[in-house]
Amino acid sequence: MVRTRFAPSPTGYMHLGNARTGIFSYLFARHHNGSFILRIEDTDRERSTKEFEDSILEDLKWLGIEWDEFYRQSERFDIYKEYAKKLVESGHAYYCFCKEEDIEKQREEAYAQGKAYRYPGTCRHLSKEEVEDRLRNDGSYVIRFKVPDGRVVSFDDLIRGNISINVDDFGDFVIVRSDGSPVYNFVVVIDDALMKITHVIRGEDHISNTPKQILIYEALGFKPPEFAHLPVILGEDRTKLSKRHGGVSVRFYKENGYCPEALFNYLCLLGWSSEKVGKEIISKEEAVKYFDIKDINLSPAVFSHDKLYWLNGVYIREILSEDRLLEDLLPFIEKAYKKVDIDYLRKIIKATRKEYNTYLEAVEKLRPFFEHKEPDEAAKEELSKIDKSVFELLIKEISALEQITPENLKAVVKNIQKSTGLKPKDIWHALRIAITGSLEGIAIDVIVSILPKEETLRRLSKFV
Ligand code: GLU
Repeated sequence: MVRTRFAPSPTGYMHLGNARTGIFSYLFARHHNGSFILRIEDTDRERSTKEFEDSILEDLKWLGIEWDEFYRQSERFDIYKEYAKKLVESGHAYYCFCKEEDIEKQREEAYAQGKAYRYPGTCRHLSKEEVEDRLRNDGSYVIRFKVPDGRVVSFDDLIRGNISINVDDFGDFVIVRSDGSPVYNFVVVIDDALMKITHVIRGEDHISNTPKQILIYEALGFKPPEFAHLPVILGEDRTKLSKRHGGVSVRFYKENGYCPEALFNYLCLLGWSSEKVGKEIISKEEAVKYFDIKDINLSPAVFSHDKLYWLNGVYIREILSEDRLLEDLLPFIEKAYKKVDIDYLRKIIKATRKEYNTYLEAVEKLRPFFEHKEPDEAAKEELSKIDKSVFELLIKEISALEQITPENLKAVVKNIQKSTGLKPKDIWHALRIAITGSLEGIAIDVIVSILPKEETLRRLSKFV
């Protein structure tokens, strides 16, 4: 039975790279009819917040990633304590009473000599009596894992093949800090082992942690899981994707009017390509069906904002149902304008969904349906060239229409052209400027066919 997990730390909004890690772990589990576990890694009490935890859960749900089990590390401290004790008792870990300032000094010295710091093992060989004595007297200690001398740790990464790392350089590393809080490399092993995780899928920044974790598995007699380390995601300048590249959180895209299916689709294809899929538009169900860790590219994926923007447009134009568009767009529209009538919005969406790539863009483009805007500079200039009598004629002609349709409007323009000799282009411009205040945007005949007639007439009357 395959069991994977996603283990975000709630220290910020979920980064796109993390979301992709979550998606791949999810797809792998679902593909194998296994379980997907969500584990909040909040052992760092200073940097973790409930607010970020909530945002991660919300954003995962929004992306359509549902989990089967949920854990929070801050609720498992007793378990970690028990295992730290076991490691000390079995001689795989030991109490270290070295003063923080001494360690700092050693670290600076190593640094000055251009060497990487390695704890010299000062407390490795304290006798049992000495340890007990110190525990009783000066209290403050950390627990260190005893790294076996001269060991090379190897594992077969499912993406990268065999990886061997000499652990000699690590030195005996801390597993429990002086404030009693357990560190990542330790708790991750306890959790992955107790939660029976079969496949650990995570970012390549954790490759160097893996040997430490394997040593702890061995010391506790647990069987290590399979590991798959995903390549990093780069920005278009080929540096690691970060805030410098603009919006890089799931939250950013949600707030900027992207639809979750498009973001899910885009992230899926960021580093995974399969001949079996052979297309760029892929649903969650198809991704589950075809996902195979062997198809993950070893070279880093490059995040393209433009590509995601394009893909989102495809979802809005061609893939989402009208009901879904309505549901997604409604909060954006109501936030920008006033409460809207659902049937009115439905009509608008039907007629305009090809015109925008994001919901935020839709808010701007659909403005004429909700708000009257004064003519902008270009519109004003155009207006100065148009005979004002056209507005009265437009009012007269449009008032007489029983139903406003693009065809009827064409006839209206033709009639005015005949009676005045004005150019059709100018008549359309006059109508467009009065209704939208701008020379650009959604076709004016589409707008006027949907806008309530009295609103069209009211806007025209301002120009008489
Ligand atoms: N909390 C770690 C992170 O967010 C998880 C690493 C892991 O998957 O083991 O990077």
